[in-house]
Amino acid sequence: MLVLVSNAGSTSLKFKLFDMPAETVLCEGRVERVGSAGGAIYHYRNPGRGIAFKEEKQNIPDYSRGIRRFLDSLLHSETGPVKAAGSGTIGLEDITAVGFKTVLAKGFSGVHLLDEAVLRAMEDYRFVAPVHNGAYLEAIARFREQLPKAQMVGVFETAFHATIAPERRIYALPYEWYEKYGVQRMGYHGASHSYIARTMAGTDAAGTAARRIISCHLGGSCSICAILDGKSVDNSFGFSLQAGVPHANRAGDLDPYIILYLLHEGMGMEELLEGLEKNGGMMGISGLSNDMRDLEKAACGGHERAQLALDIFVNAVQRYIGQYYVELEGLDALVFTGGIGENSPFLRKRICESVRSLGIELDGEANAQGMDAAGRRRLISSAASKAAVWVIAANEELGVARESYKLLQP
Ligand code: ADP
Repeated sequence: MLVLVSNAGSTSLKFKLFDMPAETVLCEGRVERVGSAGGAIYHYRNPGRGIAFKEEKQNIPDYSRGIRRFLDSLLHSETGPVKAAGSGTIGLEDITAVGFKTVLAKGFSGVHLLDEAVLRAMEDYRFVAPVHNGAYLEAIARFREQLPKAQMVGVFETAFHATIAPERRIYALPYEWYEKYGVQRMGYHGASHSYIARTMAGTDAAGTAARRIISCHLGGSCSICAILDGKSVDNSFGFSLQAGVPHANRAGDLDPYIILYLLHEGMGMEELLEGLEKNGGMMGISGLSNDMRDLEKAACGGHERAQLALDIFVNAVQRYIGQYYVELEGLDALVFTGGIGENSPFLRKRICESVRSLGIELDGEANAQGMDAAGRRRLISSAASKAAVWVIAANEELGVARESYKLLQP
């Protein structure tokens, strides 16, 4: 069964075509910096067999254009995947399902066929996750047009966090707000953190089970997750994706009275939403870019606000690691994943230095090398470190493919 997984991040689009249940990746694509300058498309055909890698520098104004470009490459004789030797290229009609790493829907969690009721429930919470639900609703609509015969499956990001205890989930607000509106700490990035939990099962420096894990998914959106015995026990996201550590364009944790005060001062809803969704986070502090590559470079060149943005980011991650260390009563493994976590030795170093009082210590050389040759993971802590530190390539798509297959298998 061919399952195409679509991962619409806040700044990127990723696609993977799986042959299930073998879990073979036939083709993979990535569209970077959607909606801003310096965009690029990467296309890998039969990546497991090391065939054909194509990169194009091109600005991609929106998700719709990104999806179209990916489907075009899928069908192209030079870039389209080959299922098996001599079997010819794949047609769009061969794709049984499109699996989406959907974010949230009112009253739904877990894995669902994306019928009208689920889409309406995603629409109901569009206000809570405008960037993500908006992107997915658009992506789902485009895929339905392009692949009318394929089943659309949503694997919701909140499902992995259902194990978080009420005292960490419920806000100290009037209890009726929780009952009536469902206001509570949801937790997101479930596909990523659950992949880390699964990958780390039975893995620490000594080869025994890493029971207490802090998973740092740092990318355009960032979240820290405390994992105990494979289950999520805390997560830095809140009711919406606005909470936690600062994101590329979103503030992260915030005193709610700031918003009420600005409303009181006459700021309009539109300006407030723009500030929270587009003009905040790394972009807002630096005034320069939402991308850590740009900020690291600018800070090196003496750009003070780029430096400040990096410092604020590191400080926020430090706080969550400290909190979760206490909640987990110690730590076996600290894991970095996501675009920043995987690719920035500089920020991994800064973050680990900020928690050195916990006995965490990097191996400088391993950290500089990053991911191993196969691009999957590397142990980057020193032998003296009290907790293992890993960098692991996010593979949110595999979890989505597995769940989609499970739902649809005959
Ligand atoms: P999304 O949350 O949109 O899926 P990703 O997980 O793909 O995002 O992460 C994208 C981010 O990763 C970029 O915005 C950038 O900040 C960061 N990033 C990517 N490559 C590097 C790098 N080499 N060094 C530092 N940061 C990087």
